[in-house]
Amino acid sequence: MIIGLTGGIGTGKSTVSRKLRERGYPVIDLDVISREVIEYPEVINELVRNFGIEILESQNNISGKKSISRNKLRQTVFKEEKKVSVLNSIMHPPIVEEMRRQVENFKKNYKTVFVEVQLLFEAKLEKEFDLTVLVYADKKTQLERVLKRDGRKEEEVQQIINAQMDMTEKRRLSNYIIENNGDSEMLDLEIEKFIKKLKI
Ligand code: ADP
Repeated sequence: MIIGLTGGIGTGKSTVSRKLRERGYPVIDLDVISREVIEYPEVINELVRNFGIEILESQNNISGKKSISRNKLRQTVFKEEKKVSVLNSIMHPPIVEEMRRQVENFKKNYKTVFVEVQLLFEAKLEKEFDLTVLVYADKKTQLERVLKRDGRKEEEVQQIINAQMDMTEKRRLSNYIIENNGDSEMLDLEIEKFIKKLKI
C-alpha cells in the first residue's frame, strides 16, 4: 500500500515521518526529491528559459556547475499565479517520475510505503496513493511550533498559514487524520492507533 502523508506548516509531518521510519517503514520525502530535481541540467535550462538568468546563483556550485537559487526563484515566481503554474509544469513531472521510481524500488521489500508530500491536495496528487493521511494540528499549535522551530516572525508565519489550503478542507479531503495537538507521547499513541487500524 502506498500512503501519502500531508499536513500544513508545523502540523508535524516531518515528526510523523521520523516516527514511522523509527518503526521501520520506508518514507519518501518529496521535498528532498524536489531539491534533487532542481539540480537536473534539463530542469535548470527550462527554468532559466522561462524565468531568466536572474534565478541562478551568482556563483557556480562546488562542482563548477550553475545552480538555481531557490530564494531568487521564489521571489520571481510567487507574485504571479501564471508563473507558479509554469514552475509546477516544469517541476512536477520529473518529481512524480522520481517518486514513482523510488516507490517501486521500496515495494520490492516492503508492503507499505509512505510518501511525505507537503502540497498533496494542492498539486492534486491523490491518485498516486492508495490512502491519504493528514497530520493535523490547530492554527494556534501550528504557530507556536513554527515560531519555536524556525525563529521566524509571528506575522510571517501567520501569513504562511493563511496562504495555505484551509486545514478544514484538507480534513475533508483526507482518508485518515492523525491528530497532533498534544505532546510526543500522544502522537505515538495516535500513530499506534493508525497502524493497528490499517493493519500495516
Ligand atoms: P511539519 O513537517 O509539518 O512542518 P514538524 O514535524 O517539523 O512539522 O513539526 C514542527 C515542530 O513542532 C518541530 O520542531 C517538531 O519537533 C515539533 N512537534 C511536532 N509534533 C510535536 C508533538 N506532538 N509534541 C511536541 N513537539 C512537536
